[in-house]
Amino acid sequence: MRYSKELLYKVGHAFLRATGSNEAEARIVAEHMVEANLKGHDSHGVGMIGMYTNYLKKGQIKPNAPLGVIKDKGAVLQFNGNLGYGQRIGYEATHRAIDRAKETGICMYTIAQSCHLGRIGTYGEMAAEAGMVSVHFVNVNEFHPLVAPYCGSEARFGTNPFCVAMPATDEYGPFILDFATSIVAMGKTRVAMLAHKKFDEPVIVDPEGNLTNDPGVMWNDHPGALLAFAKHKGSGLCFACELMAGILSRGHTIQPGHPRNDSIVNNMTAFVIDPAALCDLDFMKSEMDAMIDYVKSSHMADPVNHPILMPGEIERLRKEERSAKGVEIADDEWNVIKKTCLQAGVEPGLFE
Ligand code: NAD
Repeated sequence: MRYSKELLYKVGHAFLRATGSNEAEARIVAEHMVEANLKGHDSHGVGMIGMYTNYLKKGQIKPNAPLGVIKDKGAVLQFNGNLGYGQRIGYEATHRAIDRAKETGICMYTIAQSCHLGRIGTYGEMAAEAGMVSVHFVNVNEFHPLVAPYCGSEARFGTNPFCVAMPATDEYGPFILDFATSIVAMGKTRVAMLAHKKFDEPVIVDPEGNLTNDPGVMWNDHPGALLAFAKHKGSGLCFACELMAGILSRGHTIQPGHPRNDSIVNNMTAFVIDPAALCDLDFMKSEMDAMIDYVKSSHMADPVNHPILMPGEIERLRKEERSAKGVEIADDEWNVIKKTCLQAGVEPGLFE
């Protein structure tokens, strides 16, 4: 079934309000989740509320928790998320970092101990929208490790996302490179399993060390481990996210000396850079246009089905299509969303 973005927003917003979020938080978190659905990342869409409800019950998300400031010194901002909804903590922290970078040319900001930050590209998009460049390293605490290191078959990392963003030009939209360092994000195994689908290629190693494309293997009592993308290179970038985000934020890494409670706590170390501090903006835009034109001019074997896209472009195309036609959500996923909302006290009329 397809559901309109308006309905998805109402559902997300109603769930958040029913579970204690104030209006501002409910708006920011619901908008973030619906934007993830529209951009094709259902793993971070409204379907997350099933998981959030469990975290709320165990006190692992604290609605309306304030963004704490650990350090505010020149170009360095250090925040504590205080286990608040990451979508709102990340939004507030990124706004502060953008404002600071306008004064100092660059702002390095970190967030420790935030509940799930959601789709990291959201923060890159905020920076790009403000004419800034940004780079983001993220790791995951509290959840059990999900990603095997290169050559390993037991998980040692979270799915540690990485993002680079650059502003739009007159010709092209913003450059938003944003991905999990595993071949697939964990949420995509949930979406695929509930839709009874398998992946096109092996993306998981099972506990016996066999490669598999079955998403269910990640949800067994003895789960497998996700593979990092691009062998040693992706595994290395995943490791870099672990160290950059886990240590510089003063959160921590996923090493087993720390307790785990199976919720998703994110740390982020990021840089917001004002390009005007480094180069002429006309030069930047004309150089970006020329380079993107050059990349897109490469010969394509199948330009209709497999065109050359720039990072961020497929999300914009999907958003256009899904805004018009609605977001397809598998029945099993929708049933979880509906049940979660009704249990939280959301008006049943919303689902009729
Ligand atoms: P993905 O594999 O879909 O890759 C997305 C990136 O690749 C985007 O930059 C996109 O524009 C680009 N891309 C996709 N298809 C392309 C094509 N044909 N040509 C050129 N570029 C293309 O994303 P993913 O790894 O599944 O991650 C999904 C989301 O999950 C991300 O937003 C990420 O931030 C988020 N995530 C969050 C956490 C967390 O702990 N908060 C953990 C993991 C992932």
